[in-house]
Formats: sequence, structure tokens, C-alpha cells
Amino acid sequence: MDKDHLKKLASEKRFIPGIYNYCDRWCERCPQTSRCLNFACSEEEFADPETRDIENEAFWSKLSEAFRDALELLKDAVEEHGMDLDELDTEASHEELERKDEMAKSHEVCRAAKVYSDLVQNWFSSPANLLVAGTGLDREEASLEDAVEVIRWYQHFIYVKLMRAVRGELDEREEELDDLPKDSEGSAKIALIAIDRSIGAWGTIYGLHSFQNEKILRFIAYLDRLREEVEKTFPDARSFARPGFEKLDTGK
Ligand code: SF4
Repeated sequence: MDKDHLKKLASEKRFIPGIYNYCDRWCERCPQTSRCLNFACSEEEFADPETRDIENEAFWSKLSEAFRDALELLKDAVEEHGMDLDELDTEASHEELERKDEMAKSHEVCRAAKVYSDLVQNWFSSPANLLVAGTGLDREEASLEDAVEVIRWYQHFIYVKLMRAVRGELDEREEELDDLPKDSEGSAKIALIAIDRSIGAWGTIYGLHSFQNEKILRFIAYLDRLREEVEKTFPDARSFARPGFEKLDTGK
């Protein structure tokens, strides 16, 4: 998609600005695809079924186009906002970024989320647990599959979003944001939503095989503690209004 077409598409009223910033990127399950510019772009880019195939040459060629478009957009943004790319790219700025990344990685909520994602990986690697994750169960098979899908979708997502939240908070300390909504809180909010949904999904799996109940309860307890820690670290996250998802979040 060329730059002008992208700009024209972006100007359509149906899109909610920034809706994709605090979503869970699960477009297949998203109730707001028609309001999302990001979704519209990817649909246009990959409308040809062939381009959906990751091994297809057309896919990579589309990505090369997207790469060129992105560079053009960057150039435009630099001109428009008077940014100095050389300043962004100094050794000191890289070192500073790395220092903050390390600080975020060692934050307790990020460390706990990383442990959770590894534990889930191990759990699903065990053949006995694959039975639960797999098929062949008559009872409530659909909801079971949904539950596994939810756990798998959010397994790494929670860590990634908490990293962004903690990392963002470090930047925000240096900025004067006053009453503006904070990116760190939006990221923490979607991480909390992912935790809540994962807890619900583990609850759905609970009881299917009694020998696994204790382990499943441990997952639920672990996530519940993580949830509490995230709420303590980001006390305003729950009230952050995610553009386009206010109704879903509040149930109103
Ligand atoms: S808002 Fe919905 S459609 Fe858009 S990127 Fe997020 S999940 Fe996908």
C-alpha cells in the first residue's frame, strides 16, 4: 500500500484513533475490527490468500513493500515534527535504552510474568497435559479448546505488555505528562485483562483430569498473585480507558 493510499484510508471516520495501542492483537477474536486502521491495513495488504502463506514469496515481497513504506513514513514524520534522527541514534541513547530494558526485565512483575510463560510452556510440553490441550474429549470440547487457545495466546503476551508498562513508566518519570493518559497504564491494563482471562481459562480446564487439579490451581494462584502485584505497581491501570474498548471493559 503506498503512502498516499494509507493516508487516505487513515482519514476515514470509522476508525478509532489508537484503538490498536491497547488491544490484545487477537484480531480473529476482536469485536472492533471494522473500527481498526491496523486491521484494515493488514486486510488490504494480505487480501490475496496466497500472501497469507508465510512461506509464499508474495508474502515476503509484500513485507519489503511495507518496509519501504515505513521508511517513507519515518522520513515524513521527521520532516513534520522536526526530529533529528542522528540524535536518536547515538551510542549514549542506545546505552540508555539498554539500561532501561535491563531495569524493566529485573522488575518483579516482569520476572514473574516470564516465569509464568516458561511454566506454561513446560506444562504444554508434557504429553499428559497435551491430552487436556488436545482433542478427543467429548465433554465441553469446544470450551476446552477455547480455554487452551486463550492460555496460549496470552502466555507470552502478559510478559511483553508488562515489560512495556514498566519500561514506559521509566520514560514517563522523565517526562511531564500531567493529566494525560499514560502509556504505561494502558499497557498494564491490557496485561491485567490478559491475566484475568487466563485465570478464567485455567478455571475452565480445572476438573477435567483430577490428577492435574493441583497444578492447575497453582497456575491460578500464581496469576492471581501476579494480578495483585500489577495492580499495586500500577494503581490507576484498571481505570485506564482503552480507546474503542470502554464498553467491553466496563460491561456497560
Ligand atoms: S484493535 Fe482489534 S482488529 Fe485492531 S489490531 Fe487490535 S485486535 Fe486487531
